[in-house]
Amino acid sequence: MNCCSNKPIIELIAGEKLCKNHFIEYFESKVFKTIRQFDLIGKEEHLGVALSGGKDSLTLLCLLSKLSKQNPKIKLTAIAINEGIENYRDKTLETAKNFCSKNNIPLKIYSFENEFGMSLDNALKILDVKPCTICGIFRRYLLNKKSRELGFTKLATGHNLDDEAQSVVMNQFKNNMQASARLGPKAGNDAGTASGTNPVGNKNFVQRIKPLYLCTEKEVTVYAFVNNLLDDFNECPNVAKSYRAQVRDMLNNFENENPGTKYAIINSFLQVLPDLKKRFKGEDVNSCKECGEPASKDKCNACIFVEKLEKAKLKAVS
Ligand code: SF4
Ligand code: ZN
Repeated sequence: MNCCSNKPIIELIAGEKLCKNHFIEYFESKVFKTIRQFDLIGKEEHLGVALSGGKDSLTLLCLLSKLSKQNPKIKLTAIAINEGIENYRDKTLETAKNFCSKNNIPLKIYSFENEFGMSLDNALKILDVKPCTICGIFRRYLLNKKSRELGFTKLATGHNLDDEAQSVVMNQFKNNMQASARLGPKAGNDAGTASGTNPVGNKNFVQRIKPLYLCTEKEVTVYAFVNNLLDDFNECPNVAKSYRAQVRDMLNNFENENPGTKYAIINSFLQVLPDLKKRFKGEDVNSCKECGEPASKDKCNACIFVEKLEKAKLKAVS
């Protein structure tokens, strides 16, 4: 069914076909409804927005800057991490910088090189580890630490419905329900609510919110392109080696055959999330003895990897 007589640009899962204007209206109202439904943003905030320069984070920043223009008490600062991935991150960071300067949004950039002494590309030359494992650990570490230092009330990330469905399935496949207890549209120090998904309550953990939680990857991609947020589609060269990519491809194939599968994963997950939080409440409460960041053991994973890097560096020069 078409929305109107204008040419449709997207077909939704329910079969409805929307033109450009009706799609933009549909998408924006879905995101703002998600923000209200899960109580993601308060009346007065200094939000950090994790910006990679890809479609998800640019879409998120574009929508939050509309919100911030309507409500000046919601202040935004973009935060980007340069992992040091040749021919990839430099391009997306350029897009990120252009967007922020056009829209007058302050942007802070931190690099693995400066913060951990080595780019991801160089770390992978001396450490035998899957790229996304070390990359994810270092990036999450820096985002949390810098968000706290910069005084953000919350950190917004561009995770969409596809990302979350992948995470739920990955955790299930790896028998890691504790990691699933940290998912959801809001993760942080509000373990008592249905949407708050961090069972921890560690004071050093900056609350994370995911306003695109109920938007599919296809919807986000179309929104980014119709709003000219991206000139190009860049994908990290390491993505194909990841476990996530295997789960992503499997879920995409399954969704093609059985439309609505990803929505079903998320809807059923949201039903069990409050119980998962209760079950894992009180775990992961430690602080790293080296750096003070939240940790599940006595040392955080970032400090463990920094040590491994130091050892590998010494071995490489000896
Ligand atoms: Fe890092 Fe993996 Fe993402 Fe590339 S795909 S940016 S290596 S987490
Ligand atoms: Zn640490």
